[in-house]
Amino acid sequence: MHLKHLTISGFKSFAKKSELEFSSSITAIVGPNGSGKSNVAEAFRFVLGEQSPSKMRGKKGEDLIWGGSDQVSRGNRAAVSVLLDNQKRVFPLDFDEINLERVVHRDGQNEYLINGSVVRLKDVQEVLAAANIGPSGHHIISQGEADRILSASNKERREMIEDALGLKSYQYKKVEAEKKLQKTKENIEKVESLRREVAPHLRFLEKQVKKLERAAEIRLKLRDSYSEYLKREDIYLAGWQDRISTLFDPLTTKIKEIEGALANARNILESKKHDVKRDQLVSAERALSSTREAHQSLLREVGALEGQITFIERHIAEKESKAGDTTNINIPYADIDKLVTTLEKDTQNSLKSDDISHLRRSLGDLVHSLRQFLARAIERPENDSSEKLEYEELKKQKEELDKKLKTAEAEVNVAEQAYQEIRSSIESDQSESRDAEREVFRLINDRREAEAELSRLEFEKSGIERDREDFKRELQEAVALLGRDATLYLEYKVDATKAEIEKEDRTKQRDRRHELEKLKIRLEELGGANVELEQEYKTVKDRDDFLEREIADLTLSVSKLEELIVELEAQLDERFGEGITKISAEFNRFFALMFGGGEATLSQVKIESRKRKGELDDEESEVEEIQTGKTETGIEIGVKLPNKRVKGLDMLSGGERALTSIALIFAMSQVNPPLFVILDETDAALDEANSRRYGDMIEALARKSQLILITHNRETMSRASILYGVTMTGDGVSKLLSVKLDDAIAVAK
Ligand code: ATP
Repeated sequence: MHLKHLTISGFKSFAKKSELEFSSSITAIVGPNGSGKSNVAEAFRFVLGEQSPSKMRGKKGEDLIWGGSDQVSRGNRAAVSVLLDNQKRVFPLDFDEINLERVVHRDGQNEYLINGSVVRLKDVQEVLAAANIGPSGHHIISQGEADRILSASNKERREMIEDALGLKSYQYKKVEAEKKLQKTKENIEKVESLRREVAPHLRFLEKQVKKLERAAEIRLKLRDSYSEYLKREDIYLAGWQDRISTLFDPLTTKIKEIEGALANARNILESKKHDVKRDQLVSAERALSSTREAHQSLLREVGALEGQITFIERHIAEKESKAGDTTNINIPYADIDKLVTTLEKDTQNSLKSDDISHLRRSLGDLVHSLRQFLARAIERPENDSSEKLEYEELKKQKEELDKKLKTAEAEVNVAEQAYQEIRSSIESDQSESRDAEREVFRLINDRREAEAELSRLEFEKSGIERDREDFKRELQEAVALLGRDATLYLEYKVDATKAEIEKEDRTKQRDRRHELEKLKIRLEELGGANVELEQEYKTVKDRDDFLEREIADLTLSVSKLEELIVELEAQLDERFGEGITKISAEFNRFFALMFGGGEATLSQVKIESRKRKGELDDEESEVEEIQTGKTETGIEIGVKLPNKRVKGLDMLSGGERALTSIALIFAMSQVNPPLFVILDETDAALDEANSRRYGDMIEALARKSQLILITHNRETMSRASILYGVTMTGDGVSKLLSVKLDDAIAVAK
């Protein structure tokens, strides 16, 4: 037995604590009208969590509390507890017995307790739902409620049948899943809206951070480019500075040496100046020309004298030819010998001189001497002595002059010799000067070349120094831009040898520098590091990522919930379909049993889906339904009475309706037997024959479910093992007593 015990205290007419034991499968509660029997059924509804006061014939919670009578004052609380057996763990709690208790206070506050612990209504409902005891209370059929299932709409009927089939837990899960789905979708919307709100800011930050990242990349590139550029420049400048300084000193030394040699050569040149010798040459020239003039004048004198002599001789000869034939004349040998000796002597003297004029004169003298000899030979016979004397005189003068001429000739020779000596001395001096001059020229040239080389070196040196200054400036700029990273160039390994770097075309290094400039400009455009912005981006991004994950999780939940709902709907449909088939068969069987034939069926029909507006589950409240545009399944009942043409529920009599609904209730309880069924005067409208059939069905039902029957029916009472009588005396308080069947029949009356 699942239902073990019920305690009612202060509930409705049970002002005092009343207890009922349910130790058998059928318990009947009997008593006169108004004694409080239905209050017992309502006590069950109450303790099982019924929320609608109207289902317990009240308007509000306070109506459920003992209202007081003339004899017994009203109570402040109503309490009902039910003890359930849980040895088979039909309820999901690890206790063999579960005591559910509900208390309602005058202020309408409710308390729920499970095994003495205060819990929420939801907890109670969950515990009961596990045993298919749902809030619709399909297993508690109140008085006059028997044909409720017949008068219900197709949709309500479906709900009742679902409840009876134990599909409420599925429904409950489905509703829960739908609520969760709705909530999750709302959450997604909220989170998406949060993301949408933050998106523009995030995009802005993203752009900024991308810029920062690009700047960082460019910084790295700049760092590497700087390293290569600075390293190459450093190597290049150091190499060239070394080279220039090694060339510089020898070159200045060389120039000094050249200047020394040049000074020396100039001194030599100075010493070879020949002004003195030129004066000597001039005076030698003068001496030479004066001696020559003296000699020439002597020659002219001699010539004149010789002309006179020749004239006289010709005159004498003419006289002599006139005087005689000169063909044969006798000349003494001594004279001829004397002539020859004289001629020999003169000739020898003349031959000593190289001077042609001297020779020429000597020849003239020789001819003259011969002419005189001949003249003298012819003149031997002397005819004019004065002419002869003049002639002789002239001869003497000429001899004198010849002597002078010889002296003058000697003087000319001496002057010529002196002149030649000075001249050749000057010529020799000139040759030495030319050599010295050439040396000076060579040295000047050498010096010019060395100086040109030096100035080229100096030019290069100043170029290198300028480049070094540029290098320092560039390094400072690199430090300003890169901080300590700028010094990384010191360790940078250039992919080239020192010699290659030094020889490299400078345009390449200029190109590198140009590249650096471009990088610097790009870096400047992108702006510097911004830690705060990065931090803010990280925070906003983290939040956005979190929201994105949240949406992903929620979306996953949505699809899982949708899957669950689809699955639950499929299970519901399947179980519902199976259940309907079974219930329909049982319904038909019970119906035929009740009516001794005929047919009864349940069939599924499609109805338009409607949903309640608002969440109030209170029947009293105005419930508005709205169309959802979807269709759902409803349940239609078809009946055909035996031997009657009557079809359809509307054509049934009151008793027939009662029997039909009992058949259906029993069919439902048969397919999915509830733990207990409470039937409040369901049998009221039955005649004797039907009461027996009802009694049979009760017994059949009791094999699967514990039954509590509120009844006035003797037949029904006779099927119960335990009978409780409810009485109410003048104080308005219901009292319970265990009774025997006969007593019960008496009490019921
Ligand atoms: P019937 O056989 O006619 O159906 P019953 O035995 O089922 O009668 P109930 O309807 O359970 O009787 O009891 C009704 C009685 O309970 C009434 O007399 C009513 O005054 C009393 N009652 C209901 N609520 C309260 C309350 N809050 N305080 C006191 N008495 C109450």
